[in-house]
Amino acid sequence: MTEMRFTGSFTQQEPIPEEGISAALEVLRSGRLHRYNTAPGELSLTARLEASYAKWQGAKYCLALASGGQAMQIALRASGVGPGDKVLSNAFTLAPVPGAIAAVGAEPVLVEITADLVIDLDDLVAKARTSGARHLLLSNMRGHLCDMDRLMRIADEIGLTVIEDCAHTMGAKWNGRRSGNFGAAGCFSTQTYKHMNSGEGGFLTTDDAELMARAIIMSGSYMLYERHGAAPLPEAFSEIRLDTPNMSARMDNLRAAILLPQLDRLDANIDRWNALYDRMAALLEAMPGLLLPQRPAEESYVGSSIQFRVPGLGAKGAQRLVSKAATRGVELKWFGATEPVGFTSSHRSWRYVQAQALPKTDAILADLFDMRLPLTFSLSDCDAIAENIAAAFEAARQPEDAA
Ligand SMILES: *Cc1c(COP(=O)(O)O)cnc(C)c1O
Repeated sequence: MTEMRFTGSFTQQEPIPEEGISAALEVLRSGRLHRYNTAPGELSLTARLEASYAKWQGAKYCLALASGGQAMQIALRASGVGPGDKVLSNAFTLAPVPGAIAAVGAEPVLVEITADLVIDLDDLVAKARTSGARHLLLSNMRGHLCDMDRLMRIADEIGLTVIEDCAHTMGAKWNGRRSGNFGAAGCFSTQTYKHMNSGEGGFLTTDDAELMARAIIMSGSYMLYERHGAAPLPEAFSEIRLDTPNMSARMDNLRAAILLPQLDRLDANIDRWNALYDRMAALLEAMPGLLLPQRPAEESYVGSSIQFRVPGLGAKGAQRLVSKAATRGVELKWFGATEPVGFTSSHRSWRYVQAQALPKTDAILADLFDMRLPLTFSLSDCDAIAENIAAAFEAARQPEDAA
């Protein structure tokens, strides 16, 4: 090896801001961790976080939850999905997405993706027609946004309710409008590897008062819904409050304490992610044989991870690339593996979902690689990563190891 092996960690996030740590200690000292455990006149940190996130997102209502997966599950249920219903979703996503559909007893109908890693809108129209599904759980997987204008026109025409999975698009925009504000509801995650880090956590946002009232009761508000930070007026609850089950998926004040200062830094962090992404993308694009998804001009992304394809590499070649890169300290994920690895899986690994033929998606995943870009990386780390990828790529192309 001529170049230096990369020694950074692809899973190392930044520390929680000191103000968040102090606020968390204060919550611990108070003993009032539960979001409804407030002193007289006190607005809980969870309620404050809801108000702040709703404002930042530009949504009327926001509900803080225990996870992004719970946000999707509750959004589906609150928008009327029930057992046996069909729900459309991208075939390329992560396990919590089909999992949320399965959790409400519904059946995922998987839609092909395009080479730019977004939902294939022609296949969406076809599958909506053949399945009769009335809901789409749109996954903005790895931060790529489809043509949201065209998608919403299609949804209007065929009467599809859209729930957006924005786990990777918190802060992204399409034509200036924030991801999450197009469909009936937006679902966000504050799990460690997303754009804000509370270990676990999530948000559901919407402008629909009834959907939010249901979601709040489902989240486990008991009859304390007036203590929320970005909730509809009490009248919105009067019809539904006794007919809606409690599914206990609340956020607590400890997590809210560490998220509030991160929200203040989110815009600045988005710029930092994009500086890393743009540097990495330029370096990868310059490598022959490597293809990056096209990012449309309407999309403002948050480059917290980067994807590339190596057409014609083959399964053996792909495995070699992953292992050569690992030897050089670069953690690449390959979506074409037959067995799920870590967080990476393909639709074939979700055996609770009825098997579906997705030849186009399979062909794309067969040569698709993915890499995280945590904010603990610097621009010179990007250079070092690129050198190591180039060397790994070279080594993987050799039919046999020379040494
Ligand atoms: C992380 C993630 C979610 C939500 O995850 P939780 O871990 O439940 O917060 C949803 N969709 C995608 C694509 C994700 O990566």
